[in-house]
Amino acid sequence: MHDLAPYAASQQVSRGRVYKEPVAVYRDEYQRDRDRIIHSAAFRRLEYKTQVFVNHEGDMFRTRLTHSIEVAQIGRTIARALRLNEDLTEAVALAHDLGHTPFGHSGQDALNECMSNFGGFEHNLQSLRVVDVLEERYPEFPGLNLTFETREGILKHCSLQDASKLGEVGRRFIDQQQPGLEAQLCNLADEIAYNNHDVDDGLRARLLNVEQLCEVPLFGEQYAEVVKCWPDLPKRRVIHEVIRRMINQQVTDLIEITRKGVEAFDAPNIDAVRAAGKPLVTFSGDMREMQLELKRFLRKHLYRHRHVHRMAVKAQAIIRTLFDAFMRDVDLLPAAVRISTRRLEREAGDEAGRARAVADYIAGMTDRYAMLEYGRIADPTTVI
Ligand code: MG
Repeated sequence: MHDLAPYAASQQVSRGRVYKEPVAVYRDEYQRDRDRIIHSAAFRRLEYKTQVFVNHEGDMFRTRLTHSIEVAQIGRTIARALRLNEDLTEAVALAHDLGHTPFGHSGQDALNECMSNFGGFEHNLQSLRVVDVLEERYPEFPGLNLTFETREGILKHCSLQDASKLGEVGRRFIDQQQPGLEAQLCNLADEIAYNNHDVDDGLRARLLNVEQLCEVPLFGEQYAEVVKCWPDLPKRRVIHEVIRRMINQQVTDLIEITRKGVEAFDAPNIDAVRAAGKPLVTFSGDMREMQLELKRFLRKHLYRHRHVHRMAVKAQAIIRTLFDAFMRDVDLLPAAVRISTRRLEREAGDEAGRARAVADYIAGMTDRYAMLEYGRIADPTTVI
């Protein structure tokens, strides 16, 4: 690994793992975290979970898996340029969406609504629950027993009520502290990735068009440059070049502004970064403004597009139907889930335990599995 800045995360100053383990011979602690994430079942399921377009809508669209890989790529570039910990950045990026429900945000909203009387459902909190509890892969401990820094990076936001139940990793929300720089940059690498790939996927799906997008400065300025340089370039290649430049522009802005801020702040170590009153990884004000315009555009023209909305309505119906059916009749659940349902019921002493187990099960489903299960449960003509 390259030379780390004094304020970077490193295994020498790590707050460690909840369950003590012997050190690995050939790998650093954050490499181990990354490897545990890649080998987890929740990571493999990301392949069949929606980003914006439901998996069966086409093979060319981003899924949660390709999205997570893009976040890791962008994150590592930024980490290396700022002399931060690349392995930790990669681990956080690959894990950040592990708790996502099927059907993207509409699935999350539907499950949250189902859980409204039982503590709610939040995909970010669920990502932590996946790595801390739900992955069962080791004889000595539940979950993946990741380092504090990876868990800190996964938990991007959290209510004070939830934070108080999470122990050390929830502490910073109560103390109003920041996470390390690797966690901060993953959060913004996530934004860069989805803003840009949603433009690409939206154009590919023909829900967006270039003429509309040219009204958004981030796209329009790069588009004008590209067609000036290559007036006869086929449209698809123009779009790729524009998006490539948009990503580069945002990553460059982030690196340069953050480098200045971090140098001025002159943190001696990661704890000084945590104690800073505000995040140190930031875009310039101008870039923030341009991104907000792009976000507004995407919300209006893509996320609320009739076709996307129509699928979202169906997704909500699927999640609601599954939740209600499992809550009414636990015998509809697979044997292993029934066992964890009984355990959580015992622990909670009421229906909330059952609801949590059902939510864990539904959140873990891929898009296609949720649709299949819906058919088996709600459609009498489905025989298997
Ligand atoms: Mg994401």
